[in-house]
Amino acid sequence: MINAATTPIRKIIHQSHHSYLCTLLMCAAVLASNIALGHGTAQTPAGPNDRTIDFPDTKEYKTLVVDLHTHSVFSDGHVWPKIRVDEALKDGLDGLAITEHLEYQPHRADLLNPDRNRAYIEAASAAEGSTLMVIRGSEITREAPAGHINAIFIEDANKLLKVKNPPTDKSDVLGYYTAANQWPSQNAVQAAHNQGAFIFWNHPDWTRQAPDGIARINDFHAQNAKNGILNGIEIANGDYYSEEAFAIALEYDLAIIGVSDVHDLIDWDYKPHEGGHRPVTLVLAKDKSIAALKEGLFAKRTVVWTRNTLMGRAPDLIPILQASLSTSKLTYRPDTSVAIVTLSNNSDMNMQLRYTGAHSLLLGPDRITVPEHGEYELHVKPGKVVDTLDLPFVVENALTAPGQNPSIVLSSQR
Ligand SMILES: [Zn+2]
Ligand SMILES: [Zn+2]
Repeated sequence: MINAATTPIRKIIHQSHHSYLCTLLMCAAVLASNIALGHGTAQTPAGPNDRTIDFPDTKEYKTLVVDLHTHSVFSDGHVWPKIRVDEALKDGLDGLAITEHLEYQPHRADLLNPDRNRAYIEAASAAEGSTLMVIRGSEITREAPAGHINAIFIEDANKLLKVKNPPTDKSDVLGYYTAANQWPSQNAVQAAHNQGAFIFWNHPDWTRQAPDGIARINDFHAQNAKNGILNGIEIANGDYYSEEAFAIALEYDLAIIGVSDVHDLIDWDYKPHEGGHRPVTLVLAKDKSIAALKEGLFAKRTVVWTRNTLMGRAPDLIPILQASLSTSKLTYRPDTSVAIVTLSNNSDMNMQLRYTGAHSLLLGPDRITVPEHGEYELHVKPGKVVDTLDLPFVVENALTAPGQNPSIVLSSQR
């Protein structure tokens, strides 16, 4: 792989007519300037890219694909922020937030810069000139009942943390965490809210804080939701999916959020080259900008895509399904009244449909899969030649509420 630092050096070696020593000196100068400039911008993925997460825009909105919860070495992740940006570009994301734990920094002893905005600054500079929008955020990290809370679109991460008497030994990670936890969680959340942050409750079903794996609302989050301070809740985090969190989102009128919460590599955790994908949030936005993304999130126009399943409120989810699926012209098998309609899927999700129409199918069964960016040919028996055929389906890998699959009707004309 060619990285930003080697390209100019190579150019000089090939083009220079100076002496060997001179070339060496120039190389050293270029190398020095590259080091001084920092870590370089992220690379555009090379070659064919079939891992891009792709959902069509709806009639009314742009469908932005975002991951609002990730980590780097600035808290307990294991990669530099630029790698998060590279992965996001490979996945074709529109938006990325690196949300470091404020109170928990296992690599503290190795971090010289105390500025908690560093991960954002590094990622934003790596994403410069690319299609990726980097959003400034942090993870407020407490024990239950507050648990972990992400605040994004913040202005300054340093103001969300107050640590009295931190341990002098920088390797005392737990001591620092304990000292940082003395500042009341409500103060931290209020400080983020004062910066205009969009705030969401992370992994409320995390078994370390909810040993039965059941997300339950508590006074802390219920009050903040009621007061407009808590704006969203993760229903999908990594491999976790919480039905209870989905129900809480609907009951407390919170945005539905799905995230990777990646600490290592997306490639290792989700195997995109084998057809896997990270959980993402689809935000229905008026345009592709940070302001429109923020507006869409506060308006709760979100749909989660996790493990090849779409979840969201019907008014947000159904337009995405309708934009994804289309029908061909209605034709007939020669000399019969058996109708042929080709269903096309314009999205990244393998659509698992159950046909519920009155007319039966010639080619069974009634459960079909329209593959991602693919087609399925349906043969229907209306009994006579008709000019219009309405085809009702239940989308079995989509949910508008826990256990509730949406229905859509696709129409085909002669
Ligand atoms: Zn967390
Ligand atoms: Zn996290």
